[in-house]
Amino acid sequence: QAGIVIAGAGHAGGSVVAFLRQYGWKGRITLVGEEPLLPYQRPPLSKAWLKREATADNLALRPARFYEQQRIETRLGTRVTAIDRAAREVHLADGGTLPYDRLVLATGASPRRLGLPGAEMSGVLALRSAADADALAAVLEPGRRLAIIGGGYIGLEVAASARALGAEAVVIEREARVLARVAGTDLSAMIEARHRAEGVEVLLDAAVEGIEGEAGAAQAVRLRDGRRIACDAVLVGIGAMPNEALAVECGLEAGGGITVDLAARTSDPLIYAIGDCTRRPLPLYGREARLESVPNAIEQAKQAAADICGRPPPVPEVPWFWSDQYDLRLQIAGLAFDPAEAVLRGSPEDGSFAVFHLAADHRVLAVEAVNAPADFMAGRILVAKARQVAPGLLHDSAVPLKELAI
Ligand code: FAD
Repeated sequence: QAGIVIAGAGHAGGSVVAFLRQYGWKGRITLVGEEPLLPYQRPPLSKAWLKREATADNLALRPARFYEQQRIETRLGTRVTAIDRAAREVHLADGGTLPYDRLVLATGASPRRLGLPGAEMSGVLALRSAADADALAAVLEPGRRLAIIGGGYIGLEVAASARALGAEAVVIEREARVLARVAGTDLSAMIEARHRAEGVEVLLDAAVEGIEGEAGAAQAVRLRDGRRIACDAVLVGIGAMPNEALAVECGLEAGGGITVDLAARTSDPLIYAIGDCTRRPLPLYGREARLESVPNAIEQAKQAAADICGRPPPVPEVPWFWSDQYDLRLQIAGLAFDPAEAVLRGSPEDGSFAVFHLAADHRVLAVEAVNAPADFMAGRILVAKARQVAPGLLHDSAVPLKELAI
């Protein structure tokens, strides 16, 4: 019996095996993972793990005994190198092959590389895996200075962790504001101010020309305007690229992520794809996108498992995401595609507020909440229901949002 093979033992791969058993799949399940570890959570890598507040056990998605009890075979430390769709088998880097009845691609994404002179020097780091986090943790000590290229979530979370560990951090952002790709201007401004207040140097509109160093070790980031940012190490946090080569090479539809439908099916009915490696439909917004978040990995794992087990697809969820920086908990629900208006509720000065992004017809597209979990929860429902709400009501903290969301 061939059963189900999962390529990639990250958050999506680790979740789909559990849902398959939960939904009644009795047959063989084989989880193939390139990293030597059982599936683990990546979010703490830039937060608690980096600050040495979490252990390897805290990171694991499930304990080792779960895989034994659920009869999930694991092949770790090896990768799927090719898919033979005609023979219905995958080839592994260790020379083996595995036949499949159904194949699930859960290969995640890889950090985008800095294609500039000096990028290959030692001390130029990226952050995706536990091994990457260990390498980064080793340089975050009092008195050392980390240059962070990219003011996105990962760069900013690492900056906050660096400060907590007494290291210096300088964030180098190409755009005019931090979180430019993923957040509205109010949120960007508030986050930037907080980082500066915590002693992080934030350089905006700063184009990197290359990395400089001695004897192959990075010592500074050179900017195009001639500035030289001295540092002990460099973290490159400029986004991630979907690991879609396996799919492309065997002729599946892909490009900016493996194309899937709302049951996580690829263009081959026997092959599914889930998590960061996919480009998926967003029914609430009438378009497709690649989402990089834990909630998305779990949602798509459910979709694939349900389809394989002959269940109807789960109801689509509102995309959401969180980020922790200092004592700030950011929670974002929905996606602000072409917003017409941003409405502020609460006060950024008090450290607790939400920004609602509305379409021209006042439909709530997205909410960004900072230390405002109730506004986040209510906002998520407003987005799910595509509710139209007058901006004045959203702005007025005296109006209970919960009632608007009913
Ligand atoms: P991954 O978890 O990356 O797993 C893919 C796995 O597949 C990897 O282990 C990879 O080695 C393996 N693989 C790749 N190719 C092959 C192959 N050919 N054969 C076998 N194995 C293969 N999301 C949030 O929602 N909130 C957060 O706060 C947050 N913080 C984050 C912080 C960091 C530092 C990082 C890196 C990510 C963070 N994310 C966060 C994103 C979140 O972790 C990802 O969206 C999630 O891990 C995606 O799961 P995945 O299974 O698709 O990919």
